[in-house]
Amino acid sequence: MLKTLRQWIGNAESLTKQLDYLIREFQLSVEIPSVRTVRLWRSKNIFSQPPKQKFGFRQILEGLATILLLKKGWTLSSIEQILPLLSDVVLEEQILGEIEGKPTTWLPDSLVKNHRQQTEKAENAVVLLAQGILHLYNRLLASQDDIVRQDDNLPIELYQAMGQLGRLYIEEGKFDRASCVHEVLHNARFSLQNPLWNLAIFQDDNFVYKDVILIDSELVIPTEDCGEIAHKYGGFGEDNLIERRLYLQLCQAVEKLGNRRHFAYTKIRELLGRFSLISQDKFYDYLQEHNLTSLSGDVFNFYTEVPDIWLIDNVANRCGYCGTLMRPNANPKYSNGQCPIWQCEGHLSPKIAEKLDPKKGELLVALPQILTYWTAPAIDELAIYDTAKKQGLNVELYPQSDECDVSINDLTIGIDAKSYRCPYSLAHKLNYRIGGLKHYQTRIIAINDRIIKDHPYYIEKLQEKLDKTDFTATLQIMSVSQVINNIKEGKYES
Ligand SMILES: [Zn+2]
Repeated sequence: MLKTLRQWIGNAESLTKQLDYLIREFQLSVEIPSVRTVRLWRSKNIFSQPPKQKFGFRQILEGLATILLLKKGWTLSSIEQILPLLSDVVLEEQILGEIEGKPTTWLPDSLVKNHRQQTEKAENAVVLLAQGILHLYNRLLASQDDIVRQDDNLPIELYQAMGQLGRLYIEEGKFDRASCVHEVLHNARFSLQNPLWNLAIFQDDNFVYKDVILIDSELVIPTEDCGEIAHKYGGFGEDNLIERRLYLQLCQAVEKLGNRRHFAYTKIRELLGRFSLISQDKFYDYLQEHNLTSLSGDVFNFYTEVPDIWLIDNVANRCGYCGTLMRPNANPKYSNGQCPIWQCEGHLSPKIAEKLDPKKGELLVALPQILTYWTAPAIDELAIYDTAKKQGLNVELYPQSDECDVSINDLTIGIDAKSYRCPYSLAHKLNYRIGGLKHYQTRIIAINDRIIKDHPYYIEKLQEKLDKTDFTATLQIMSVSQVINNIKEGKYES
């Protein structure tokens, strides 16, 4: 059909008509452009004919290509950059391929190859960086030393990552920001697409790790995303994952209680979730109340005494949302301190629940790794649990030592709350295994609402990357607020 149009010449109106005709003939399910749109495209340099000259066959191809690419989610500026690189023949092939539903790339060969190579290099650099950060963290934990020195003692992966990042900077013609370990570790507290990194490949729409933050900026602990990415190629032992290590530590502690161990597990996790800031008296009261005093030594190790530098006007401010210790912050907005947990509402809008005077009794605060891996996710877990409890459902928190986060009616419904910032690293984790959730008839993954607000297509991206086979295919993915609504509407009643 296109063949008959090779000699065609016309103005904006007739080009619009021609496109309208072809869209109908090819039965494309796209929006038909108006004359105004065609004129807009001309002003945006989508059409390549010189100014004041009539449109020709090339512009029909450019118009059709633009319509198809917009539908695929391309922006006008990227279309403008690609079209001049494609000859009439290639353009026609791509359009016909697209119409027939064949896989098309729309990128010139040289660019595809180069772009793909760059993306792979960038992904590898991020995996190495995640591994380096995790190793460095483990090493600091073991040595009780919190100073990073750029010497031979840096993990090899960190060196390799810095080298690979350096190449990316050079290839983009930029100043190498990866030569100093301190700068790299500082930048790792921000998402990879943040301008601080200044790498175009990290900001590319198709770069899977662009939303990833490797180090929690407040708590200075490797994030869950960091852990998942580090294990992408299975290079590490699973026990190196921070969360896994904490889990084993707690299981070992509760083991001695025999058949009360699952109960003890839940109560300790609940303590760390609800009372990550607590006075010593209350700490011992809690253990006594649940007949768990024999674990006091083990549980004490999950806390540290509140140091004076975290006091504000000599008192410890408790966050009005999650209950943890608010940290001093130089920003006047946070003159009363800021909640260090980014998933907490108090992180951006601080609110004080109470002021605790350490002179009236020693204060304890959960260790940063506990705050990151247990207290922070507990905000969603406890919100779901408390709602179900209030509705009078048969609900359990962390049943069977964490088979899932919340279960309803024994094995009927299992819910895991997740707050990975990157949908791809969560997909990777779930594809690897869904854990104890597989024991439940209905398996729900509840995604933190703040993350969905920050990344509107999070759930779609996660669904797209999840395996469509095995247990993974049975997962129901929804927001935490959706789960809570369903509970309130009685959807999970037996
Ligand atoms: Zn908070």
